[in-house]
Amino acid sequence: MELETKCLHAGYEPENGGARALPIYQSTTFKFDSTDYVGKLFDLTAADHFYTRLSNPTVDAVEKKIAALEGGVGALCTSSGQAATMLSLLNIVSAGQHIVSTSTIYGGSLNLLAVTFEKLGIEVTFVDGDAPLEELQKAIRPNTRAVFGETLANPALTVLDIEKMAELAHSNGIPLIVDNTFATPILCRPFEFGADIVVHSTTKYMDGHAVQMGGVIVDSGKFDWSASGKFPCMTEPDESYHGLIYAESFGEAAYITKARVQLMRDMGTCQTPMGAFLLNLGLETLPLRIRQHSANALTVAQYLESLDDVEYVCYPGLESNAHHAMAQKYLPEGTSGVISVSIKGGRERAAKFIDHLKMISLEVHVADIRTAILHPASSTHRQLTDEQLIAGGITPGLVRLSVGLENVNDILADLKQAFAAIQE
Ligand SMILES: *Cc1c(COP(=O)(O)O)cnc(C)c1O
Repeated sequence: MELETKCLHAGYEPENGGARALPIYQSTTFKFDSTDYVGKLFDLTAADHFYTRLSNPTVDAVEKKIAALEGGVGALCTSSGQAATMLSLLNIVSAGQHIVSTSTIYGGSLNLLAVTFEKLGIEVTFVDGDAPLEELQKAIRPNTRAVFGETLANPALTVLDIEKMAELAHSNGIPLIVDNTFATPILCRPFEFGADIVVHSTTKYMDGHAVQMGGVIVDSGKFDWSASGKFPCMTEPDESYHGLIYAESFGEAAYITKARVQLMRDMGTCQTPMGAFLLNLGLETLPLRIRQHSANALTVAQYLESLDDVEYVCYPGLESNAHHAMAQKYLPEGTSGVISVSIKGGRERAAKFIDHLKMISLEVHVADIRTAILHPASSTHRQLTDEQLIAGGITPGLVRLSVGLENVNDILADLKQAFAAIQE
């Protein structure tokens, strides 16, 4: 099946007379005929749904669909993108160990890694993803257990050289974990370039309608957890399952099975059946939406680039962009709807511009089906001075525009009237 077909058909096949649309199994629990069988479920020698924190038929169908889209062996839905990132790393990294991450990652991921993981005893080194391999190698330590980066970074919009990062990880016997949120599996499938694990905030384009929080972890099944001897968590007995060895019992699905039966069991950041149902509705139209988001955004980016009011536009789909060649390699069909644009005149003029917009809405969100805008200097980064903003790569006039699916002429018209309103 091609991607568009998988979006509609993968993961759920109705029985004769069964519901055509994916049913919502709004049940926390399931009924069994014998204690012997329930015992087998707990020993992981039989597989079935028995408690919705661990698995549920509706959530399972969506997990199978996303695994099919990414080309993985299995997936695990989580309550949010943050939970997916957290579990994807904690599944293989523990106290006293180390992670290498690119520095241009989502602010929430940055806090998770730099502050919360630090408290858990996990150290993180942030690197410039554009640095050459030899330079990046210097960040790797004997106790490094994962390399992490974002395909299309939020909000920096840098494009990750996935093949280079995979080489860095694999030459050190560790996996590459890629946050593929902005690209979605429609625009880029990181496993095809050597990534081992993919995570998403499904809250963004996958859901697309701004209705349901969620995340997902997808396992390529390709990483050999036994080869380097660096992952006893996969190759040595888990006492919480009577000495089960994940790599032996689950083969290529060892990582994703462990994430579910150990971490989801213990930490409980699960997706709900209703949440998975809503996510599935979004996934059904994802190919149509993400390509149109990208096409609209390219038109808007080209328009913004032509204006005297604009300091610079950052959008990897633009030929002027430093990551344009990388985008053509990894995201040939488009680079999503998100654009960063810096408006001349600093903090106040950017805020005034936003306040004059009529249709485009001020939201703390990206990837909404409706065009949305946010001004970091007066919202998420308002505690910072102009000097601190600039040091962090954010100009005071920078706005993040998430181009939606309205007719692009209406989006352009709203931008034009707001620019006209701030002239004088
Ligand atoms: C939003 C986002 C997250 C966090 O996801 P939530 O669903 O908000 O928890 C992680 N990574 C990226 C790239 C994001 O854009």
